[in-house]
Amino acid sequence: MGTYTPSSAAAAAVTKAPAGPGNMTFPGLVRHNSLEGGVAKTKIASLMEDFDRQEEPADVGTVQKAIIRHLSTTLVKIPRDVDSLATYLASAYSVRDRLIQKWNETQEYHERHQVKRVYYMSMEFLLGRSLDNALLALGLKKVYSDTLNGLGFNMESCLEEELNAGLGNGGLGRLAACYVDSLATMDYPGWGYGLRYEYGMFKQKIVDGFQTEVPDNWLADPNPWELPRPEITYKVRFYGHVSSARDAQDVERHKWDGGQVFEAMAYDVPVPGYGTNNVTNIRLWSCKKSELFDLTAFNDGNYDAAMAAKLQAENLTAVLYPNDNHMVGKELRLKQEFLFASATLQDIIFRFKKTTRPWVDFPDLVAIQLNDTHPTLGVPELQRLLVDEEGLSWDEAWDIVNRTFSFTNHTVLPEAMERWPVTMLEKILPRHMSIIYDINLFFLQKVEKKFPNDRDLLRRISAIEEGSPQQVRMAFLACIASHTVNGVAEIHSEIIKKTIFRDFIPYFGADKFVNKTNGIAPRRWLHQANPQLSELITEVVGDKSWIKDLRKLIILEDRIGDAEFEERWVAIKHANKQRLADYIERVCDIKVNPDAVFDVQVKRIHEYKRQFMNILAVIHRYNQLKAMPEARRQKELPKVMIFSGKAASGYYIAKLIIKLINSVAAVVNADSAIGDLLKVVFIPDYNVSVAEVIIPASDVSQHISTAGTEASGTSNMKFVLNGGLILGTVDGANVEICEEIGEDNIFNFGCLADEVEDFRHTQRYRPSSLHPALKTVLGTIESGAFGDPGVFAPLLETLRSGGDVYLVSIDFPSYLEAIKSVDRAYRDRPKWVARSIRCTANLAKFSSDRAIHEYAEQIWNIKQCPVPSKV
Ligand SMILES: *Cc1c(COP(=O)(O)O)cnc(C)c1O
Repeated sequence: MGTYTPSSAAAAAVTKAPAGPGNMTFPGLVRHNSLEGGVAKTKIASLMEDFDRQEEPADVGTVQKAIIRHLSTTLVKIPRDVDSLATYLASAYSVRDRLIQKWNETQEYHERHQVKRVYYMSMEFLLGRSLDNALLALGLKKVYSDTLNGLGFNMESCLEEELNAGLGNGGLGRLAACYVDSLATMDYPGWGYGLRYEYGMFKQKIVDGFQTEVPDNWLADPNPWELPRPEITYKVRFYGHVSSARDAQDVERHKWDGGQVFEAMAYDVPVPGYGTNNVTNIRLWSCKKSELFDLTAFNDGNYDAAMAAKLQAENLTAVLYPNDNHMVGKELRLKQEFLFASATLQDIIFRFKKTTRPWVDFPDLVAIQLNDTHPTLGVPELQRLLVDEEGLSWDEAWDIVNRTFSFTNHTVLPEAMERWPVTMLEKILPRHMSIIYDINLFFLQKVEKKFPNDRDLLRRISAIEEGSPQQVRMAFLACIASHTVNGVAEIHSEIIKKTIFRDFIPYFGADKFVNKTNGIAPRRWLHQANPQLSELITEVVGDKSWIKDLRKLIILEDRIGDAEFEERWVAIKHANKQRLADYIERVCDIKVNPDAVFDVQVKRIHEYKRQFMNILAVIHRYNQLKAMPEARRQKELPKVMIFSGKAASGYYIAKLIIKLINSVAAVVNADSAIGDLLKVVFIPDYNVSVAEVIIPASDVSQHISTAGTEASGTSNMKFVLNGGLILGTVDGANVEICEEIGEDNIFNFGCLADEVEDFRHTQRYRPSSLHPALKTVLGTIESGAFGDPGVFAPLLETLRSGGDVYLVSIDFPSYLEAIKSVDRAYRDRPKWVARSIRCTANLAKFSSDRAIHEYAEQIWNIKQCPVPSKV
């Protein structure tokens, strides 16, 4: 291993890329006979171009006709079989027709102008539903609503027929979805690349207070939002062996063959920009080689065993790994990552070759963003394709790789860091392991030259971690190969420079490490999720321009103190709370009072996110209420504590946190002495659609991770944009939200990131010195007040023998104080409403449009390229 000497010399007489197969314009890969004879070809081309340019009118008659046509033809329905699912599907197909035209035009236009594109590589895209989003983007919501009404259907119930595309775990996958929305809306040429899992994030059912997992068969109904492209497939190899031989120029050339070959097939998901002709693309790969397997294990609730069965079946894209911020070193996951990386890079290269430009121009047409380390195998794969398949020299190829890739780091949690055993890579991807060795060797040689005689530096900075087993540090590989590395919030970007990438700074310089604070798409998280507030904002702004430029929201500040406006603001929040109350009654069978404070924590369940600390404080509140005389109690502020979120199927402690929340809920909600003063709700199956109902209804939301652990968070932004206040730690994007909205409008508490290490150290050795309030709460749990305390013992042990790694016991006292401040503040209604308006008004920075604009200008070097309007 690692014996290959790169030759910058002779090898690349090949500097010009040969034209690829196929002779059509994008996106055809011609595998079948193309039309012979110029006349026919010209005729069909011009007719098709004309078709794409024709915009169908947007009136009820046209829309109705299209829906009826799809009911009758695409869906093969007879009248008595038409139900709301069929109506949803027919509506979706008719919208899709319009999208595809624009999609074709966009791709053709970008190809014709040879613009540089960004390819956003992400193993996850948490898209949620598409129909509502597409209708709003195309300005068709009203006409579709009128049409459906006219046909005797209700818009809302049709929209709810759509299954969520849950191809992601949480924040990282949702970020990718928001970024593609912004690329499209701002007319940036770019695509997302991902995997088409047959089963996305599992569905969560709560049984006896425990989470159970049910497979998410999201492709059960026809999916109008994906366009299968059976003609676009790539072969992807695993295992096999590498041989080398000298070529005509006496350069050593490597050949990888044998092993097992899979096929990746493309599915395209069109993503419309808001109020633009641009429709961009997410290309998802599906592994074609699959064997039937037994689904009963899934249905029996044994998710882990079912996953193992899937592994046997070797359908690589069968299921999404349900781990958020946690690495599971399974071979199947490695294979997913490589299938993704290889198909994507082959596809990008194929598209590049069609331009017939020389290879050195590759980075002038292609920018690739690695969304976390999951797509990092794209690095050695591009190097391999350029050197082994295209005949470039090592140095030429490496220069291209380096000018093409950039990398986003999403976490500093040690358990989330991707490391792959060298032996596993050698077995499954022998050529790539050898390329990684070489990348690392040449890197270390250069480091050594700059900083001689520092063996410890070389050990620390190496992409290969010594030890047994030897492992490849994927974050280091991504860092070495990328021209730019970014964190996702100011505090996080500073932390990574001081921790994981510290040793890289003297060599690369600090400028390689930048910040790009995350953002959210205002289209989905305000315009779509909160239609009433959107209408009010449009009225105040004077038009809908704020949907594409959130800075316009600042004008809302002028209305603070305007009694009529504030009344409407409050009424809208109340209506959203009523909508959530109805949802809670429907799915949880719990009645909650919309006049109570809605205090929300919804996100993946994780020890570092500290839902545990939240429920401990709820128990504290319950104890206090119980201890009060009735008269005093009735003066307390009524609260609904709302939780939602999934635990990874193998994350035992996180699952116990869910059980504890549900056990507390059962006791508190049934306590007639408490009544509406305190309700605890765990809403099952948190996903994008559920988030769209919950977020606009919050008065307060909690983002209370141990300082330094949440890289950014994005739901904090969603809540504040909808006029909800934050109770949070000084962590992630909370810090910048505070800067934007002012510290009067956020409730901060807890130790600071730079204090955490100290506290961890002292805490570890004094596990018994708990705050009295916390001691009492733990005592309540141990007394059996919420059922068999034995069930919760391992959870409580995390605070004791576990060393309280996430500092729950340290932050608990200041957390209780912060909760008191929230309660006090809420009682001052006029001031609270003013705060709520200020939150929304000042949130512009957290639009994903701002984030994408920064990436485009400072990292990708791409230019906006709007597709002209129809004539
Ligand atoms: C925004 C979002 C997240 C991320 O939430 P955080 O609180 O930032 O972790 C997770 N899941 C869904 C469905 C989301 O919409």
